[in-house]
Amino acid sequence: MPRSAVYCQQKRSRGADTIMAAPKAGRFQRNPHAPQRSVLTAKRKPGRGYHYGRAEGGPFSELLEKKMKYQAFLIKYAEIGVKGKNRYIFEDALVKRIGQVLAPVEGDFIVTKENGRIYAIAGEEMDFDEAVDALQHVFGIAWICPVVQLQDEGFDVLKQKVVDYMRSCYPDGGFSFKMQCSRARKNYPVCSQDMNALIGEAVLEAVPTSHVDVHKPEILVCVEIRDHNINLYSSRIPGAGGMPAGTGGRGMLLLSGGIDSPVAGYMVAKRGVTLEAVYFHAPPYTSDRAKQKVVDLASQVAKYAGPIRLHVINFTDIQLYIYEKCPHEELTIIMRRYMMRIAETLAKENGCLGLITGESIGQVASQTMQSLVCTNAVCTLPVFRPVIAFDKQEIVDVSLKIGTYETSILPFEDCCTIFVAKHPVTRPLLHVIERSEKKLEEKIDELVKIALDTDEVIECR
Ligand code: ATP
Ligand code: MG
Repeated sequence: MPRSAVYCQQKRSRGADTIMAAPKAGRFQRNPHAPQRSVLTAKRKPGRGYHYGRAEGGPFSELLEKKMKYQAFLIKYAEIGVKGKNRYIFEDALVKRIGQVLAPVEGDFIVTKENGRIYAIAGEEMDFDEAVDALQHVFGIAWICPVVQLQDEGFDVLKQKVVDYMRSCYPDGGFSFKMQCSRARKNYPVCSQDMNALIGEAVLEAVPTSHVDVHKPEILVCVEIRDHNINLYSSRIPGAGGMPAGTGGRGMLLLSGGIDSPVAGYMVAKRGVTLEAVYFHAPPYTSDRAKQKVVDLASQVAKYAGPIRLHVINFTDIQLYIYEKCPHEELTIIMRRYMMRIAETLAKENGCLGLITGESIGQVASQTMQSLVCTNAVCTLPVFRPVIAFDKQEIVDVSLKIGTYETSILPFEDCCTIFVAKHPVTRPLLHVIERSEKKLEEKIDELVKIALDTDEVIECR
C-alpha cells in the first residue's frame, strides 16, 4: 500500500509498534517503517527544543532554531488559565512584563493578547536565542512556542510548507508525530479533521521513517488557521512558571550576600510579588565588595522579578552597641530582631505587605524554632520564609538554576558573621531576650533613627 494513503489519527492497539489505518480497505497494518526507540535518544540543549508530548529525549535538531525563520512566539500560561473574571488583570500584567523583557532584545516585538492567547511577534529580524532567554525569565509563562507565521496561499501550499518545515526541523526523521490542526476561521475550505489527515499523510510520504502516534507523539504539529494568517509550530520551550510580576502585591526582602535570601526572593517573586529589598551593611567591618555582591544578587533576582529597589542601611553603630551591652551568646538574635524592626519600618513606608527572609529551620543557631519565635515577635507584618523547610542542598539547587549561586559563594563577609558569638544560644527564651534588650534602652531608638536616615536606595534591574 502506498504510504500516501495511510495517515489516520487512530488508536494504537496493545503491543503494536505503530498502527497505520488503511482507510480504503478499512483494516489496520503494522508500520514497517516504525523506528526502534533507541534511535530517538539524542540529547538536546538544556532548556531548549522540547517537543509536545515528550518529556525527555527526542529528535531535536539545532536546525530547528538556526534554520527556521520564526516570526513569533506563542506564549502559553498555566495557572492564569484557571482564573475567573479577573483573568484579564493577570494577562495584562504578563503582556506588560513580556514587553519589558523583550525591549532590549534585537527585533521589533509587538506583544498582543488575542482571544485569550498571548503572542510576541517579531519584526523582520530577531535574535532568537536572546528572545528565548528573556522570555524564560518571565513569571507566568508555562511554555514558549516559536511560531512560523504563514500567509494563506491555498491548502496545497500549506501542506507543502508543513512538509518543508518538518524536513527542516527534524532532518534525521525517525519521529512519531500527531497533527493538531484547527480553524479559528470557519470558512477555511478544509475542516480540521481533513487537514489532520491530509497534511499528516503528506508528512508520512515525505519522511518515510516517521510514524503517527496519537497518544504519545514525540512531535505535536500544530497548524492554526487564523483570520489573517496561519500559525505553524511544533516545539515548546519551558517557561519560568508562576504568576506575572506585579500581580501579588509588594514584599520587603531581607537580602544578605548568602545563598538563601536570593532564593527566597526569587520564590516569592515567582508568585507575582514585586520585591523591594534591604541590605544591612557594617562598614568598615563589611567592605564595599560585600555591598556590591548584594547589588549583583539583587540584579540577578531582578532578571526574573522585575526591577528591585535595594535599600542599603548602615547597621554598624547598632551592632557595636548591642555588642557592648548585651550577652554575646544572644548577639545574633538581638541583631536579627533589630534588622526585622528596621525592615518593617521600611516595608510600611514603601507599601510592602510583608517581610521575606531566607531562614530555614535549624540551619544555624538563630534559626531554630525557638530563635525564630524570638525574631518573629518584633514583627507586626507577616514574615514569609519560603525556604523554611528546605535542606541547604535544595536551596543550592534553586540558586544554581536561577544563576545566583556563583555570586553568593564569593567570600565576602556579612555583618552577621563578623559579630558572631562562639556559642550562640540555640533555645532562646523570649522574655530573656527582651530583658537583655532593656540594656539598650538609652540609645537604641536614636541609633535606629540614624540607621534609617542612612538609607541608600539602589535601583537594581
Ligand atoms: P543567606 O540566608 O542569604 O544565605 P546567610 O545564611 O548567611 O545568608 P543567615 O545568617 O542565615 O544568612 O540569615 C538569615 C536571613 O536573615 C537571611 O536569609 C536574610 O534574609 C536575613 N539577613 C541576614 N543577614 C542580613 C543582612 N546583612 N542584610 C539583610 N538581611 C540579612
Ligand atoms: Mg541562611
